Amino acid sequence: MKQYFDFVLITMGYVFALVIMFAFGKDIQGLYMSLEIPIIVSLFYFSKRRLLFVMLLTLGSYFALLACVDTLRDQVNRYDLIAVTGMIIGSGVIGLAILKRGNELQQSLERAVSSEIDAFVDSVATQNASKYDHLTNLYNHITYQEYLTALTGQHDAYDMPLQLAALDIDNFKGINDRFGHHVGDIVLQETALLLKSSISSEDVAARYGGEEFVLLLTGKTIKQSHELLEQIRERLASTVFPELDHQSVTISIGMADYTKGLGKETLFKQADGYLYEAKRAGKNQVVSPLGRRVSSAPEIIQCS
Ligand code: GH3
Ligand code: MG
Ligand code: MG
Repeated sequence: MKQYFDFVLITMGYVFALVIMFAFGKDIQGLYMSLEIPIIVSLFYFSKRRLLFVMLLTLGSYFALLACVDTLRDQVNRYDLIAVTGMIIGSGVIGLAILKRGNELQQSLERAVSSEIDAFVDSVATQNASKYDHLTNLYNHITYQEYLTALTGQHDAYDMPLQLAALDIDNFKGINDRFGHHVGDIVLQETALLLKSSISSEDVAARYGGEEFVLLLTGKTIKQSHELLEQIRERLASTVFPELDHQSVTISIGMADYTKGLGKETLFKQADGYLYEAKRAGKNQVVSPLGRRVSSAPEIIQCS
């Protein structure tokens, strides 16, 4: 019943109009022209079916009036009959033309909206492509630099704790050489996942380039950050890769602490210096201003 509700409502409107017409139509000439009103109202539905239905009802009501109300019939001559019938059909046709034009406008509006959505999706995709590293889905080098500028600026202004860690996978060239470039890519992806899952939402993980990553650690003391990096190092060292004949991979990490006015270049140089120390001291370790914690290393893959 629900889907025919409009039609029932329109029909009830006609019944109501006809009752008024029977009551007063004999005395007030031309009142029957008010039957045109539903045709205009039906345009609001923007539906061809409803408009045709209303047009037929109007014609039917008009002829019913003529058949039933003698005084009305007496007043209407043949020319009136043709003119009124023509007007009812004419207004229906005009209504149909309005609907057609309305539909065209609606379609062009829909096209405009959908192309706007497409443009939005494209711009998000472009933004993502320029913001993230395609292999690891971490932030890329450009985004890392933007965060570094913002966070060092924030530290200078509000003295908020900030550490920068530079991470470099050990003997990575050997992995590529021995197991192939695609396996090297898997190691990079897994390492990236491990980094992402180890840091908090206020920290930043990015791929610096090649097999090197950077972390920007915020809201932590140097000790807390050093311990977090130690956990990352241990988690990677204990991750077994089926693609590497069930061996693990290790990572060396250098971490520097930001102090007011140090500048982002100096901060990175310091972290890179600590990373160099970690490599020189035998790899698979974290070095920071707190010193070095030599690992109780698990089986390390020696591919070099
Ligand atoms: P170290 O322990 O001293 O860090 O030695 P390493 O072998 O890890 O470092 P090295 O700089 O000698 O080699 C890095 C290699 O990383 C060389 C390069 O071919 C490889 N590499 C860089 N980018 C990618 C990449 O996107 N995918 C893969 N599979 N390899 C990459
Ligand atoms: Mg390297
Ligand atoms: Mg390396």
